[in-house]
Amino acid sequence: MSGLIALLTKSSPTMRKYISLRFCINFGACLLLVLGLTVMFGWYTGSHQLIQINTRFVPMQFNTSLGFIGASLALIGLNNQYRKISLYIGILLVLLGGLTLTQQILGVNFYIDELFMKHYIVTDTSQPGRMAPNTALAFLLSGISLLVMSVKNINLNQYLVGSVLGALTMGLGSVAFLGYLSHVETAYGWGKLTKMALHTSVGFMATGLMLMLEARYLSLQIKQKLPILFLPLSLIVLGFTITICLWQALYSSQLYVMTRYGITTSNFVAEGILIFGGIFSIVIAIAVWLAARSYEQLQALRLAQAEILELNQQLETLSYIDSLTEIPNRRAFNIAIDRELGRAYRHKHSLALIMFDVDYFKSYNDHYGHLAGDHCLQMVAHTINNIAKRKTDMAARYGGEEFVLLLPEANLTDAEKLVGITLKAIADLKIPHAYSQASPYVTVSAGICACIPQYETTVNDLIKIADQGLYAAKSRGRACFVAIAN
Ligand code: GH3
Ligand code: MG
Ligand code: MG
Repeated sequence: MSGLIALLTKSSPTMRKYISLRFCINFGACLLLVLGLTVMFGWYTGSHQLIQINTRFVPMQFNTSLGFIGASLALIGLNNQYRKISLYIGILLVLLGGLTLTQQILGVNFYIDELFMKHYIVTDTSQPGRMAPNTALAFLLSGISLLVMSVKNINLNQYLVGSVLGALTMGLGSVAFLGYLSHVETAYGWGKLTKMALHTSVGFMATGLMLMLEARYLSLQIKQKLPILFLPLSLIVLGFTITICLWQALYSSQLYVMTRYGITTSNFVAEGILIFGGIFSIVIAIAVWLAARSYEQLQALRLAQAEILELNQQLETLSYIDSLTEIPNRRAFNIAIDRELGRAYRHKHSLALIMFDVDYFKSYNDHYGHLAGDHCLQMVAHTINNIAKRKTDMAARYGGEEFVLLLPEANLTDAEKLVGITLKAIADLKIPHAYSQASPYVTVSAGICACIPQYETTVNDLIKIADQGLYAAKSRGRACFVAIAN
């Protein structure tokens, strides 16, 4: 139990929905199992309270209790990935319901009614041990529902059928239950045949509900979504089953209304139920359909919003990255130097800025082509970027063939050391440059600015000093660096 609670609290909302739905079905199926086992126990021990609740009430037949045990096990199987169990039990339920109904319709006897238990309670039972026709029909429907949902490679429509059959089963149970509540016998007994017991009607309400929930759970789990018609269709079937069966029950229950002329007329209550129930079912189904559609649209909107947010984030990241060299661009550098200058001033730290410029790059482009020039810039950029090791260090493309390296908390000595390493690393790339007057390979020159910023120091001051150093390095023959004193 604590594991389940931990899982419920840690998992995502969709996951939580699956888990709670699965838990509900398992719980409901267990209650159904308890119902079946209790009545079966009653039959074996001769306990009328368990079989009939009250001795005036209709008993739950032994076969019915067997059916409930089967249905609950099938539901547990289907709910816990033991599909085959529910498939076989589904077949047995179809046989149980189908054969019993055939006996009643054709007036034949397959000797299945007392196959497992000699019948000894005869209250409202047309044939010893035979379950009511509405009970048999409900087992037939729930058996088909289980079968439909247990087959391999299922699609969403099959779940829809499973749910609708569940709604029909629940409808049959509800009508009988309402019949008990309103004392309309024809709602739980058809003609002179065996009547449905009170606890049987409750059992079918639970079975139908569990089947509808199972269809919902499986389609959510396997296909990650529910068809929009899922709930409205199940509800309309449930509503119409209850409405039509109740109307039929009341209509045939001799509940005639006497007019003041003493003539019996047709049953207005029955017709009222038919009209009201029909309209109510349609209205509810439409309302649920509209709600489901709005929910789906809302979900789509949320998804689109999340995508837009992500795209925005990507765009923002992209806007700070140089597309050719994939290192930060001048925009990112401007923000970083502004921040680091403020920090260095506040903490009285030294801040170093280095400007690099590729030597004789125009002639490189002219002779090797622009594409080769691009490739050369990428290699130089990655080399400078790899030198920036600390989290706060930042290499950026300043523009064209110029790069900058920002080193917070670095003094002149640190900067000179790093620049020396960088220049050597670039020369070691040995990118041939036959038209450079500084070296047979591509080289860079650098200018350094390192200082503890004062109140009046600006970003432009730092760039200007680094640029002056770079200019001096170029004048000194290139492939070297110069640090101008601040
Ligand atoms: P110096 O040694 O004095 O720096 O000479 P230089 O030729 O490197 O300097 P100059 O400013 O004359 O030339 C810079 C060249 O860089 C010109 C331009 O074609 C090239 N360049 C700028 N941006 C790019 C780019 O994105 N790709 C390529 N392939 N070339 C670029
Ligand atoms: Mg330049
Ligand atoms: Mg240059």
